[in-house]
Amino acid sequence: MFSPSYRGRFAPSPSGPLHAGSLLAALGSWLLAKQAGGAWRVRIEDLDPPREMAGAAQAQLATLAAFGLHPDGEVVFQSQRHALYQQALDTLLAQGLAFECHCSRSDLAAAGGIHRRCVAGRSRPDPAIRLRVADGCSIAFDDAVHGHIVQRVDLEVGDFVLRRSDGLWAYQLAVVVDDARQRITEVVRGADLLDSTPRQILLQQVLGLPTPAYAHLPLLLDGRGRKLSKSSAALPVNQQQPLRTLTALWACLGQAPLPANALLALPDWQDAALANFRRQDVPTRAIALPAALHNAISTRCA
Ligand code: GLU
Repeated sequence: MFSPSYRGRFAPSPSGPLHAGSLLAALGSWLLAKQAGGAWRVRIEDLDPPREMAGAAQAQLATLAAFGLHPDGEVVFQSQRHALYQQALDTLLAQGLAFECHCSRSDLAAAGGIHRRCVAGRSRPDPAIRLRVADGCSIAFDDAVHGHIVQRVDLEVGDFVLRRSDGLWAYQLAVVVDDARQRITEVVRGADLLDSTPRQILLQQVLGLPTPAYAHLPLLLDGRGRKLSKSSAALPVNQQQPLRTLTALWACLGQAPLPANALLALPDWQDAALANFRRQDVPTRAIALPAALHNAISTRCA
């Protein structure tokens, strides 16, 4: 398959250094983009200052470089794109598809946190803005790894937040605006975002934006079965021995071992990986890394 119009991306939030799970998403999206002869963009999703760690974005970019994952084009920072998100929000407000909402979490607790109508006991000076999700709204898509996915967005998610009551942009709005603006043709990321995808497709539909293809890669679990996350126990990936770490991640992607001569230098590894990567072999199930190895992968996946 060769498609010069393929555009993939990796979009980390700078809440900490890259751990093995985020590097897996970076590697998977890079492999698919490069194998298709396309472009691989990097976008730093820095829209939540309270959750950011100083210097994390630069550290993440340095880690990608240490693994030979070099972005095509300028790295985009969401913090510099507020006007684009505002424009999208204004469009939805003008069409009556978005509305101000004064409900707090506790107001919605009785409905399991799902908003179908406003039940706020009092109005707030700083309402959130939500997307109105029509009754019966069902979104279906075919994920390249997980197959056919259907979600009843009204029942499972409800009217969802586009701009938070603290004034910050919701991830769902920003990601949709940017994926369209950057003309991303396939979104490749971790399976923790599988259930966000129907919301994103719905937003694309109401904003008149194209829907990219989606491929959600397996989650990596730590020795206790918990998802690796930048904010929990997962420490940075070991970039001193990139080939060892890449070989472990390659196995996590369900790929057959590469020939020994590919394991000597990074460019050889990358050539062999691009020649041999088979997207149909990527597993759907979450993958447990051996206990205590999730910080610096040094062995094959279980
Ligand atoms: N910024 C999100 C994260 O770091 C990923 C968003 C995406 O790939 O759509 O988990």
